[in-house]
Amino acid sequence: MNPDYHMHTPLCRHATGHPAEYVQEAMRKGLPEIGFADHNPMPEAYDDWRMGIEELPRYFEMIEEAREKTPGFPIRLGLECDYWPGQEDWIAKLAGMARWDYLIGSVHYLTPDWAVDNPAYVGRYRACPAEELWSMYWSAAEKCVRSRLFDFIAHPDLVKIFGSRPSGDLDRYYEPVVAALAECGGAFEINTAGLRKPVHELYPAPGFLRLARAAGVPLVINSDAHAPEQVGMDFDAGRTLAREAGYTSSLRFHGRQRVEVPL
Ligand code: ZN
Ligand code: FE
Ligand code: FE
Ligand code: ZN
Repeated sequence: MNPDYHMHTPLCRHATGHPAEYVQEAMRKGLPEIGFADHNPMPEAYDDWRMGIEELPRYFEMIEEAREKTPGFPIRLGLECDYWPGQEDWIAKLAGMARWDYLIGSVHYLTPDWAVDNPAYVGRYRACPAEELWSMYWSAAEKCVRSRLFDFIAHPDLVKIFGSRPSGDLDRYYEPVVAALAECGGAFEINTAGLRKPVHELYPAPGFLRLARAAGVPLVINSDAHAPEQVGMDFDAGRTLAREAGYTSSLRFHGRQRVEVPL
């Protein structure tokens, strides 16, 4: 079994369960290791789905509490950081605020006031032509990778969440991001939460994986759990997707160093 490095906490206001409950579920499912990556705080109040900067100490404390309850079980400390151009300085600052095991780069915001996966803005999503929506998303994703601020990127083709998809071969969107990952020594996650979203698909699509594999870009498999029972959810599907693209390994992270482990 591979680790699950993308789990949230109630501090983000849309997840439930103490981290210790996530750990229990991980042990029950036989995962070797897990890591939390809650949505990053902003310098000041920004939206209603993340911890405040003053809550960061509580985040560390909750993870410490989970560690105390399950001595010997490796629990890593990460953060899911919202990237859009202009956020670099803030993320660099966050990177210095703890001894992180990894930082995840996520593109949710297409503009500073529009998170593409927010159901509240599905009208805006549907009104936007697919080519335009995808261009905005993938160009931000490329900048996210090229910032070199992150150990891996989350849900690479999140933009498909509510079903928007340009016609024809989609490699033209994937290629610049895969090239950036290869050049910058980056990695990406297979995120099984897509199966629980309106698109009902894993992130990313097989076409992205094929290109990433050919370029030698490594991956991790994560659940993006927002509740304890979601830990390690659909990992069989995730591993199958990885193997079908030719992957035989995933990554483990500790202190922002990575090692390859068999899938
Ligand atoms: Zn979330
Ligand atoms: Fe995300
Ligand atoms: Fe997440
Ligand atoms: Zn996420």
